[in-house]
Amino acid sequence: MEKTIIAGPCSVEGREQLREVTEALAAMPSVTMIRAGVWKPRTRPGAFEGLGEPALRWMQELAEEYGVKYCCEVARPEHVSLCRQYGISTVWLGARTTGNPFMVEELCQSLKGSGMAVLVKNPTSPDARLWIGAIERLQAAGIADIKAVHRGFAMYNNRGYRNAPLWEVALELRRELPEVPILCDPSHIGGHRELVVPLAMEARQLDYDGLMVEVHPHPDSALTDSAQQMTPDGLSQLLDAYLAPTAPSDSNADPRLTPLRQQIDDVDHEILSLLARRMELSRSIATIKHDRGMAVYQPKRWESVITNRLQLATSLGLDTEFVKEMLEKIHAESVRVQLKL
Ligand code: PEP
Ligand code: MN
Repeated sequence: MEKTIIAGPCSVEGREQLREVTEALAAMPSVTMIRAGVWKPRTRPGAFEGLGEPALRWMQELAEEYGVKYCCEVARPEHVSLCRQYGISTVWLGARTTGNPFMVEELCQSLKGSGMAVLVKNPTSPDARLWIGAIERLQAAGIADIKAVHRGFAMYNNRGYRNAPLWEVALELRRELPEVPILCDPSHIGGHRELVVPLAMEARQLDYDGLMVEVHPHPDSALTDSAQQMTPDGLSQLLDAYLAPTAPSDSNADPRLTPLRQQIDDVDHEILSLLARRMELSRSIATIKHDRGMAVYQPKRWESVITNRLQLATSLGLDTEFVKEMLEKIHAESVRVQLKL
């Protein structure tokens, strides 16, 4: 399927800046639409908050002149009516809006019957239900053209990203709403332009339906999100890699895949059988604990188990964060099984 590529500046900063970036992007046939923020949700007061209506006027003029389409963020019903007034037919809900059902509902009312297309960024918190809920509200309001945009999640420890990718949350959305295409916004995930290309390539591996990328003619002097915006030339290189044809994914494509997949099936079988055995042992232990009037949860034992397993994980070359999360899940299930006895 054809990839959707949305690119453009974080914010409209002036007529000339918009013209310069539009001219460059209009010359790239794979760019579907130009993004440009008009009202900016800033974390702290006093920062550049977008140019509002004059920016929409320039967008309307330049859309005509260059034969391009623009989209911008809306957070209030007035934004929606202004967009309609200036011929913007695609809008997006920002991360701070998606997470607020009251705001989403208000926007649904103003979008109803408009025929507008809507992009829905993930909420700032890693909550797939909230993201899915916003999309369901728009669907219920009769919006036919909806796409999700994965822009990462605000976490206390983002492990070097501006917003942790947590790809699994986006995969959950895809499982629940397979009909909704999903784009990756590597700019807001990475927060630094060097991270944009590797993140976009990860999204390609996960078969996303396209990208939303921040592109500015002079990123270093951008008024918002300067560190993560790339030049039009940078985008052009990114798209060469991102849009290169991929090999078909069926298992007949390469005969080496079949035996390896067979081995994976066998390993999964073993893992599950071992888990069943582990739970059986938990049940036997629970009977003894019960007889002796001991508590099910023994913090000292758990501490020594986890320390020992993490050492083992390191020596086996496994990611300790991953192993810790997995063991915590297994332990929680073991406690649940013991309490049921
Ligand atoms: C943006 O796209 O510039 C923006 C503010 O996005 P988000 O809502 O993802 O933070
Ligand atoms: Mn931005």
